[in-house]
Order: sequence, then C-alpha cells, then structure tokens
Amino acid sequence: MNVLVVGGAGYIGSHCVRQLAAAGHRPVVLDNLVFGHRSAVAPSVPFYDANLGDETAVGKILVDEKIDVVMHFAAYAYVGESVNDPLKYYFNNVVAPLHLLKTMLANKVTKFVFSSTCATFGIPEKMPIVETLSQSPINPYGQTKLDVENILKSLAHAHGLSFAAFRYFNAAGASEDGTIGEDHNPETHLIPLAIDAATGKRPALQVFGSDYPTPDGTCLRDYVHVDDLSRAHIAVFDKLAKPGTGLFYNLGTGTPTSVLEVIRAVEKITGKKVPYVMAPRRAGDPPALYADSTKAKTELSWQVKFPSIEPIVATAWKWHSANPNGFGKK
Ligand code: UDP
Repeated sequence: MNVLVVGGAGYIGSHCVRQLAAAGHRPVVLDNLVFGHRSAVAPSVPFYDANLGDETAVGKILVDEKIDVVMHFAAYAYVGESVNDPLKYYFNNVVAPLHLLKTMLANKVTKFVFSSTCATFGIPEKMPIVETLSQSPINPYGQTKLDVENILKSLAHAHGLSFAAFRYFNAAGASEDGTIGEDHNPETHLIPLAIDAATGKRPALQVFGSDYPTPDGTCLRDYVHVDDLSRAHIAVFDKLAKPGTGLFYNLGTGTPTSVLEVIRAVEKITGKKVPYVMAPRRAGDPPALYADSTKAKTELSWQVKFPSIEPIVATAWKWHSANPNGFGKK
C-alpha cells in the first residue's frame, strides 16, 4: 500500500516508516519539521515539508502519490504545555487533522490510522486499562486526542471512513540498529533523561514522587517498544477494507514498571550509576497506568518483541551511545 505518514520525521512516525518499508509497503512522509528530524527519514523515502492542515499541498500529495492509507503522528504531546497553552493544542491536534480528513474525503482516500493515547482515559477507573473503560481526560492534550477519536467515529458513520485509533502507553526504545531513536527538545521522558544522567550529559534525574500507593512508592508505567507500536499500525491494514470500520486498541506490554525499576534497568544496561534525587510529584501524573492489550493480540495477532524494560532500554542505549547529540542540528 502507498501510505502517507503525517509526522513521519518524528519519534514514532520515523520508526513506523521503517517498519512499513520492511513490510513491503511504500511510505511517503509529510512533516513540517517543527519537531521532526529530516535525517530520521531515509533519502529514498518521498518527503514533503508541508503542514498537514494545508489542503492544497496535501490534496496534491494524495493524488500524485496514489495514497491508499494515511497515518497521523503529528500531534503536540507535552501535557504541561497543553494545560498552559490549550489553543496551541486544539489548533494543531484537532483543527489541523480536520483539514487533513476533509482533504482525504474530498480525494476519496478513506483509510486512516490515528495515534491516540492512554491519556484519553484520564484517571482510569480500573487497571489494567481495557478499551471499554470510560474516557475522561484530565488535560487538554488527552482531550484533543479524544476529540479526534470522536470525530473519526462521526466520519465513519457519515462518509464511510475506515479508521483505527491506537492508544499508546509509554512509547520507548529505538531502532534495533541504533540509527534512529528518541530526540525531543525539550526532553521530558524518563528513559532518555535517565540515560543522560548516567552519562553525565544532564544533572541528576529527579524522581517525581516517592509516596505513591505503589510497591516502591514511585509511579508505574507501561513502557512499550516503538517498533512494536509501529507493527500494530501495519497489522491493522486488512481490517480497514470495509468502509465505515472504526477500531480502537490499547497498546502496551501490560507490565507495570516503576520509575526506580527503570533507573535500575538503565544502570544495568549502561554499566553506569544513574544519579537521582527524590522530588515532589509532577502535576497530573496518575500513580499507575498499564494496558490490557488482549484485543490487539486477539484481533491483530499483535505480539510484542520487547516484553520487558531491559531489552527496551538496551535499544535506547544503543541509539544514545552512538548519537549522544541525537540527530544533531536540523
Ligand atoms: N519521571 C520522573 N522524572 C523525570 C521524568 C519522568 O520521575 O525526569 C516519571 C514520571 O513522573 C512518570 C514516569 O517517569 O511517572 C514516566 O514519565 P514520562 O514523562 O516518561 O512519560 P508519561 O508517563 O508522562 O507519558
């Protein structure tokens, strides 16, 4: 299939581009490089530096490249920023995808794969999180993702759009060859920050909260390898053949891992101490978030290749140690 990967130069998008090619598909990337890195995408992949909300530019790409499926990875994803600047998030994460979807329908491209998030569940009523739990986001970021999920349902009903929305837990790790990986600016995620603390690139890691009702007092999260996430996006293609299909999947390993366990994994893999200090809780962090991915396993035959934290950290370390400055200057 010809697949337009919107946000294909970003962290998860660039890994998905590689997995698409490996599975015999033809990825085409659209990315405005606000957060993406041009060098995260191989020169052989068609690349368009454009905004997803630009209906003229996107319409032309859909036609010229004979696109069958569109994948969307181009959202802003800093929870704290979304609280302080919600308009930025609603415009980029909801309004821009509306233009994209309108352009797709106008050009009869009716298959869509959407990056959603476990943040749509807010503070979940039960753990692990199954697809059927109620969704009540507690910040604008999660709300924008839930808004798009709901828009997709309406478009499936009204116009026969077929879509799959994947709620990611904590995307982590890097390509197995260590050539692409996580490079955010600013970086807020635990694993890259812990690695940088281990190598001395950054000061001691702050552990946000040690008094949570969890076995060691630190938050539990479900770290899932970025290539495992990518493979689910491709496995769903067959299910999108029927017009009007709407699918939702929670993607995680199902294994809760605490902040201290992540630190220990980074120490073991890097062979270096991770200096850390206990710090107050970070606003908006639920004590535990982990997935029940039975639905993806059953319906998509999705099997994770990286079921636990150490092999995930090993891929992140391979990337970070080979590329201490990430992708370097854009
Ligand atoms: N965390 C931490 N120190 C940091 C960054 C993150 O203790 O410098 C904790 C955070 O509170 C959460 C977990 O690590 O419990 C994962 O956070 P991350 O930002 O990586 O992902 P999130 O779960 O927020 O999507």
